[in-house]
Amino acid sequence: MSKQASGQAIIQEFESWSKKKYAEDGDPIGLQVGSLNKKISKVMTTLDVLPTVVDEAIREEVDLIIAHHPILYKPLKKINLDTEQGKMVEQLIKHDITVYAAHTNLDVAPGGVNDMLAEALGLSNTEVLVKTHEEPYKKIAVFVPSTHESEVREALGKAGAGFIGGYSDCTFSSEGTGRFKPKEGTNPYLGEQGKVEAVNEVKIESIFPADDQTKILRAVFKAHPYEEVAYDIYPLENEPKHYGLGRIGKLENEMTLEEFAQFTKERLGSKGVRIVGDLSSTVKKVAVLGGDGNKFISAARFSGADVFVSGDIYYHVAHDAMMEGLQIIDAGHNIEKIMIEGVRKKLQTVMTEKKYSTEVIGSTVDTDPFQFK
Ligand SMILES: [Zn+2]
Repeated sequence: MSKQASGQAIIQEFESWSKKKYAEDGDPIGLQVGSLNKKISKVMTTLDVLPTVVDEAIREEVDLIIAHHPILYKPLKKINLDTEQGKMVEQLIKHDITVYAAHTNLDVAPGGVNDMLAEALGLSNTEVLVKTHEEPYKKIAVFVPSTHESEVREALGKAGAGFIGGYSDCTFSSEGTGRFKPKEGTNPYLGEQGKVEAVNEVKIESIFPADDQTKILRAVFKAHPYEEVAYDIYPLENEPKHYGLGRIGKLENEMTLEEFAQFTKERLGSKGVRIVGDLSSTVKKVAVLGGDGNKFISAARFSGADVFVSGDIYYHVAHDAMMEGLQIIDAGHNIEKIMIEGVRKKLQTVMTEKKYSTEVIGSTVDTDPFQFK
């Protein structure tokens, strides 16, 4: 029997991926209006929360809006129902619609807005453009009877162990003999109480981001046949895993800046792009950062990118970039609308996997304030 997920359950799933700790200090992410302590039959993802989006949510009988841009950015001093913002909050509360915002944490999250943009541009071997967080790696060595080697190895991979660069499921195995004596009160999978048992065992080693330890161990215990699992966890001095804003990667085929501008416009669904640079120059290495790119001009230049795709570039910042030799495509802040479908799909997949009847839809309202003629 499928059931509706609670708001808390949905957000817990969402934050296991778009972690709160990735957000910039002072970014008002999380619950903004309403309550998460209720059953949710319909979720709607949106880039912005505007009155037209709230009307859509009411029409669609949505219980929870997941927005990229926080609806309440500055601390509210009053809720005046005669202002447009006050009216919007009133409508949300009247119709029991909860608003939750995931902003810079969704930008930074692996698979978040910046990865979605990089993927849409077909970039490969992508790396983080501006590092904001790092997480050390750990190593697990687990001892498994050879009969269950592949089960435990697969469980490790599924839980997120063994990612090295562009490779997944990396493990190392060595064979040996495990010995143990089951004591009174045990219920051994192999051997008998009071007798030393010798078993052909395999030691499987793999690395994982430290944050994933609980998840990895839970998966190993589930796949392992023994009552007591023997394992070691080591801290590692390896280069940590980096998280951050923007991505840099390579296009499959190089093209001129002019061709790339057209390509960006189509792939990211921009109504128009503004270009800084030499239209006939060749472009292969691309930096992309959703949202306001002004603060990241230097990072883009030092990354060695042939062009920086972003939004909201100021006139004088464009001058600076021009003088420093950085080419820019300002495709508009609205390119972040890519998260509407990206987050919708991810959440709907989780809801279906967890057998929830909760439906996830994407807003279809155009919230771009700009028109192009
Ligand atoms: Zn934004």
